[in-house]
Amino acid sequence: MYNLGKVFGLLILLTVLGSCSDDEGSLSSGNGNSQNLNNRSTGASANELLSETTYTNLIIEAVYVDGFRPEASSLNNLVSFLDSRLNKSGGISIIERDIPAQPYDTYTIEEVRQVEDEFRTQFSSGNTIAVFVLFAENASASDSGNNVVLGTAYRNTSLVMYQSTIENFSGGLNQPNRVTVETAVYAHEFCHIMGLVNLGTPLTSQHEDPDNDKHCNVANCLMQAQLESGNIFDMMSALGSGVPNLDAQCIADLQANGGK
Ligand SMILES: [Zn+2]
Ligand SMILES: [Zn+2]
Repeated sequence: MYNLGKVFGLLILLTVLGSCSDDEGSLSSGNGNSQNLNNRSTGASANELLSETTYTNLIIEAVYVDGFRPEASSLNNLVSFLDSRLNKSGGISIIERDIPAQPYDTYTIEEVRQVEDEFRTQFSSGNTIAVFVLFAENASASDSGNNVVLGTAYRNTSLVMYQSTIENFSGGLNQPNRVTVETAVYAHEFCHIMGLVNLGTPLTSQHEDPDNDKHCNVANCLMQAQLESGNIFDMMSALGSGVPNLDAQCIADLQANGGK
């Protein structure tokens, strides 16, 4: 999910963290410089992910809370998708890890950030850019009735997937296949940190959805807003015929910013 309020919230948080980082050992010790590379706003690493000007390798740190692991095929599909769009000649790899259930019944983005800050171990350095993905055991605090959020890109290299929500709305009777939903949501969230739509990767044509900031207005594009949040029945129907592809305009944007 993406909205301007969250960006401003993030900027304020970063300002606060920045101003007191001298007092907080956890921010200024150890991998302090590397951590700063990963503590920027959503979209700030778009070119770093797409091109290999800065980084030739990508490592994805996949952290599952309380056993909420995605299907293996979904992660394979994610790597194939990224390989088709990112110039990373050194390869794309995934490190997987399980962490205990966290003390949140639902997650605000601030709480997701706290979990990342406690458990993230991989940071960008040398020729490798690192991306952290939290697979949460509970829903987003923004959910309300049939309006749910399946995932959010909340920093330049940080994503959360609301895995329990994804599991509730896939794989059952009259529901889309689990791997289909996971593959679509994971790729959609990655595309946000790759700068789509108009989120760090400049538009090469006008296709940003006027009703849904940072999403695409082309029907059936992977970057349509309803694949990520909103009414669950709209989401399920958008996924009824399989994983949507990126449309030509989204792909053109990525290619103009260093992607394949
Ligand atoms: Zn989105
Ligand atoms: Zn599109």
